[in-house]
Parts: sequence; C-alpha cells; structure tokens
Amino acid sequence: MEPKIIFATGNENKMKEIRMILADLGMPIISMKEAGIDIDVVEDGTTFEENAVIKATEIAKVAPGCIILADDSGLEIDYLNKEPGIYSARYAGVDTSYEIKNNLLLKRLEGVPDEKRTARFVCAVAAAFPDGSTEVVRGTIEGIIGYEIVGENGFGYDPIFFLPEYGCTTAELSPEKKNELSHRGKALRAMRVIMEKKI
Ligand code: IMP
Repeated sequence: MEPKIIFATGNENKMKEIRMILADLGMPIISMKEAGIDIDVVEDGTTFEENAVIKATEIAKVAPGCIILADDSGLEIDYLNKEPGIYSARYAGVDTSYEIKNNLLLKRLEGVPDEKRTARFVCAVAAAFPDGSTEVVRGTIEGIIGYEIVGENGFGYDPIFFLPEYGCTTAELSPEKKNELSHRGKALRAMRVIMEKKI
C-alpha cells in the first residue's frame, strides 16, 4: 500500500495552493487536521530549511509509516536586512491582521526608491520519509515592495509584493498563475520530483 502523505500546515490558504500544485502526483494529500493530528511544533530553527525539517520530523514522530511534508516560507525585504524573513507570520504580532502588517512595511519603506525595494518570497519544503530520511528544497520568487495594498487574491503579503515584469502584485494573479510563478510552486515541484523517485 502506498504511504499516506500528510502536509503539516494549519494554514488553509497554503493547503489550497499545495493541493493544486501537487494534484498531478496522483496521490491524495491530507492536511494535519484531516489526519487527526493536533500538535504545535516550536519552530526554533534559524533558517527556512531548518524550520521546515523540524516541522516534518516532529510530525513524523506521531504519524509512523506516513510521508510528512512541511513548508516554511516568508518574505525577505533587502532594505530591511531581509526582515520579516522567518518571522513573517509573527511580524508585528501573530494576531495582527495583514492589513496592519502590510501597512507597517509600506511605512518603513516610505521614500525608498524602486531599486532599493527589492524583495523575495522564499519557501523551503521538507519531507520526512517512513525510512527516517529527510529531504529539503527551496523555491524563491523575486519582486519589489509596492507603494500601496493592491489585489484581492492570494494571502498574507501578496498585496504589497509587486512583480515588475507582470505589472501587478501577486494578489492580482489568478491562483493558477501564482502557483506557476511562486516560491511555493517552485519548491513543491522540486519536491514532487524527489518524491516520484522515492515512492
Ligand atoms: P509559515 O510558513 O506558516 O511560518 O508562514 C509564512 C508567512 O509568510 C505567511 O503567514 C505569510 O505571512 C508569508 N507568506 C508566505 N508565503 C506567502 C505567499 O505566497 N504570499 C503572501 N505571503 C506569504
């Protein structure tokens, strides 16, 4: 029997993107909630990769025989020394809305010209396999921080992440286009290749 694949995230927005991107793997991906797993993993790594591996291996301990996928992602703004980085979800407080987080970042970049507004979304995807081995890959998408909040699609920092070559933010892209271009799409497709060889 093929092993169950569990994606270790409680974020429904991410889960939607992940299901779309991994659809052609031909294996159902279930969320932690669907797998009946309810544990909070302390993400105390210092890089996206470390945090993704910590999440995957901790969940693997309570789900023997399953393949556990986990991601850690965030926004790096060069002008702010790569803040908010691995603290993206916690930036300005976990319970602060993205309207507040985004406005705060726009304010911190007030008066900063285009060429110094460079930024990227980063996503590390880790897999913990039933044989105890782990793999981790990284995907990125480069852009600049815009001057206002624009767009209704996506989530999180998408409305301020502007793609000069497309003339819009990632919150203005269709879900399909975002998955094609995004950090998460790139990392998950790289992980899909690894998984196809392993399973
Ligand atoms: P974590 O990976 O769950 O620790 O959280 C990553 C955080 O980075 C999210 O809550 C968002 O704030 C931000 N982030 C990651 N990927 C995206 C994206 O595709 N669009 C917008 N924000 C993102």
